[in-house]
Amino acid sequence: MIISQDEIQAYIDTPILRLISQTADEMQMECFIIGGYVRDFFLYRPSKDIDVVAIGKGTDLAEAVARKLGRETHLTLFKNFGTAQIKYREYEIEFVGARKESYRSDSRKPIVEDGTLEDDQRRRDFTINAMAFCLNKERYGELLDPFNGMQDLEDLIIRTPLDPDITFSDDPLRMMRAIRFATQLGFDIYPDTFDAIARNRERIGIVSTERITDELNKIILSPRPSVGFILLEKTGLLEILFPELTALKGAETKEGIGHKDNFYHTLAVLDNIARETNDLWLRWAALLHDIAKPVTKRWDPKLGWTFHNHNLIGEKMVPRIFGRMKLPQNEKMKLVQKLVSLHMRPMQLVEDEVTDSAVRRMLFDAGDHIDDLMTLCEADITSKNPVKVRRFVTNFRIVRRKLREIEEKDRVRNFQPPVDGNEIMEVFGLPQGREIGLLKAAIKEAILDGVIPNEHDAAFAYMVEKARELGLKPITDR
Ligand code: ATP
Ligand code: MG
Repeated sequence: MIISQDEIQAYIDTPILRLISQTADEMQMECFIIGGYVRDFFLYRPSKDIDVVAIGKGTDLAEAVARKLGRETHLTLFKNFGTAQIKYREYEIEFVGARKESYRSDSRKPIVEDGTLEDDQRRRDFTINAMAFCLNKERYGELLDPFNGMQDLEDLIIRTPLDPDITFSDDPLRMMRAIRFATQLGFDIYPDTFDAIARNRERIGIVSTERITDELNKIILSPRPSVGFILLEKTGLLEILFPELTALKGAETKEGIGHKDNFYHTLAVLDNIARETNDLWLRWAALLHDIAKPVTKRWDPKLGWTFHNHNLIGEKMVPRIFGRMKLPQNEKMKLVQKLVSLHMRPMQLVEDEVTDSAVRRMLFDAGDHIDDLMTLCEADITSKNPVKVRRFVTNFRIVRRKLREIEEKDRVRNFQPPVDGNEIMEVFGLPQGREIGLLKAAIKEAILDGVIPNEHDAAFAYMVEKARELGLKPITDR
């Protein structure tokens, strides 16, 4: 180990940990920091979330500590669980009494008894999450690592402290956590541990959707999310949790014509976008952009493989997927839908000629999400052909420049027609009806096509002329 005892001492030599130490000594209670906070010290990831284990009543210790901290302290007791939480300034500290857990096969709810520190470490998910530092003064900073988490940290390995079948069967959420940590940290899952995930995969069914989705989002927010999805796929969890994604797998060939494997393509797009943005919903859009390819796939003797309307069908699939995963069904979902539905537009534009009118229409349809759409579309370039890639990149530069020009000139993002329905009704003394709708649409089309500028007077004149074609005259002319 390259980290010295002095460094550990320095790391935990903070007023708040000293105060917990002193309080525990006064109560003659053994007490330790454990789990993520210890792990993240060795990984150089400083954190303000601290888990404290006491040998005895953790809630008593928490109450005594809270009294000493005084004002600014928020103490929450979960009497039923024997746990407590202190929020103090930027810190969030969980207190628990060391416990021993045994599980029944049909539930995540264990039978809990008081236990030793080692009992408590045994019920932790991974060796790297089971290390503890003693907080009592006599042994301040002593590392307690019965499962050799230190070695696994050095070897970049995720491994359960017990027989993995027991650890995963006790709480199947840990299977998701294993894959999440492997993805976040760039660790490998130890072969035994990995095989046990595959064996126990069906038990994920007893875990609540919210907790699974939470882990899935953490995977998506990792530096290279593909790592997690490939692990989910290989263990068989993905088939259970997200069959729409496994359906993307495979590349079929007919008459010598193949199509790309849309699973690995999707993951490449997700990794690409992860390099550009930390926005969870943009990353979700990348994950779902081709989700309807399997259901729209057809073989056409003339065209080869087609995926007609996969963007529109995909847009419709999003609410079902979000609903099932208990993701928010709000404007974030609408953003994902919009991006899925429009994801081919910038590329089509690039493949044809980049006309002002096409750019204006795209700007109109994407509104404030135009930059997100461009980001997604650029991430969607996963071709291995360097000539193609260079052409796309150049054309995208042209599209971006045109977007800027047209936006300055025409202001069509979040377009509001310069002549609105009320004005049209007044001018012709007409009620809301078919003619008004036709005239409004004609104005919009003319502006988007660049026939007239996005200005009131031009739009007004154009509207009067169109009305005349429909046999309508302004009241003032009658
Ligand atoms: P992060 O905060 O990044 O999610 P963490 O490891 O700190 O990672 P927490 O959920 O904060 O995760 O949990 C703190 C500690 O509690 C873990 O390090 C681990 O020791 C233990 N733990 C959490 N969830 C479980 C679980 N499902 N099974 C076993 N131990 C767990
Ligand atoms: Mg934590």
